[in-house]
Amino acid sequence: MADAATTSVVPANRRRSTNAPEDLEFVTTKGIEPILSFENMGIKEDLLRGVYAYGFEKPSAIQQRAVRPIIEGRDVIAQAQSGTGKTSMIALTVCQVVDTSIREVQVLILSPTRELAAQTEKVILSIGEYMNIQAHSCIGGKSVGEDIRKLEYGVHVVSGTPGRVCDMIKRRTLRTRAIKLLVLDESDEMLSRGFKDQIYDVYRYLPPELQVVLISATLPHEILEITNKFMTDPVRILVKRDELTLEGIKQFFVAVEKEEWKFDTLCDLYDTLTITQAVIFCNTKRKVDWLTEKMRNYNFTVSSMHGDMPQKERDAIMGEFRSGETRVLITTDVWARGLDVQQVSLVINYDLPNNRELYIHRIGRSGRFGRKGVAINFVKSDDIRILRDIEQYYSTQIDEMPMNVADLI
Ligand code: ADP
Ligand code: MG
Repeated sequence: MADAATTSVVPANRRRSTNAPEDLEFVTTKGIEPILSFENMGIKEDLLRGVYAYGFEKPSAIQQRAVRPIIEGRDVIAQAQSGTGKTSMIALTVCQVVDTSIREVQVLILSPTRELAAQTEKVILSIGEYMNIQAHSCIGGKSVGEDIRKLEYGVHVVSGTPGRVCDMIKRRTLRTRAIKLLVLDESDEMLSRGFKDQIYDVYRYLPPELQVVLISATLPHEILEITNKFMTDPVRILVKRDELTLEGIKQFFVAVEKEEWKFDTLCDLYDTLTITQAVIFCNTKRKVDWLTEKMRNYNFTVSSMHGDMPQKERDAIMGEFRSGETRVLITTDVWARGLDVQQVSLVINYDLPNNRELYIHRIGRSGRFGRKGVAINFVKSDDIRILRDIEQYYSTQIDEMPMNVADLI
């Protein structure tokens, strides 16, 4: 008590200076006019053709607002709910920004997982098909020789994970002098503790005139605070946290009391899981392996994926799941962000995620682009307060799972 009284004469509630970063309030930039059609975005004819051929008819809300500032060269921070077309927007804008007559890397996109970096490369190649765009995914676990071959041949866009990209830059195989745009997809993850140093490592090799675009469904305050270190007068498009969960994704919980009850609960739900496709999240790789084996012992067909598997196996499992050959995927948070399989309509949190952001990303694997989705959380007695915290934080509703849950899928 004595301490508080003697350290400062300023009353505690007034002690913060108004310039302290924690006092900054981040809001959406004023005056952004949505552009309601792709035709009116001022994009190249060949690109427009690619967008329509890909099946897009009308831009989503974030695309209506963020495409323009990005192609005009502004630094942009773009937040929007999961599955609303952010990563697709990266593909579109990148194609617009690239000058295909120059065979040098002009755009670098960094993503937190190999599968997401590869997915983004694929979307760029599809949307940019008619403009002959050359893109390459530069990701760990793949042949370095192939990276070198592709990069020497000359590509316009690199979509990669930080480790491999940095490696290629240091070998001078990935030349950075023509890079004018850096995009960080899942940017809050990319700027978080685990990745920050690696990102900086890449960033210092990039030209000083660099345009920077940050994308994510979740952008916690502490991430927005550090953006002024590498962004100039950014256009911000933000979502308040009480508007972040999607109407289309119904969220439920099952009270399991003890860990041991989770398994039986999952078995009871198996028929529901296979109605379309489902992703089951565990918090550790070991648990994924354990649950996979146990399910198989009980003759349930499941596939599984985590970061300790060889990349070849990860690729095969992704391929089978994307094609619908496999329907139930048990995985870790390697699958939490960005991956887009439209048929996924059910997400199970076998374990509750370790933070609030991951919750949004995990359940967002379902309900892609306005589709219906269901998220079911297995909660032990001592997890209930974590669930209530999530519910409150996002002002959302997580009810007890009804008997007819299958009807909602
Ligand atoms: P996000 O990155 O916001 O999670 P994605 O870019 O991965 O979203 O897009 C989610 C899904 O919506 C993808 O299957 C994508 O092809 C589709 N999609 C994106 N934009 C459009 C659009 N304008 N029209 C139709 N479908 C779209
Ligand atoms: Mg995305």
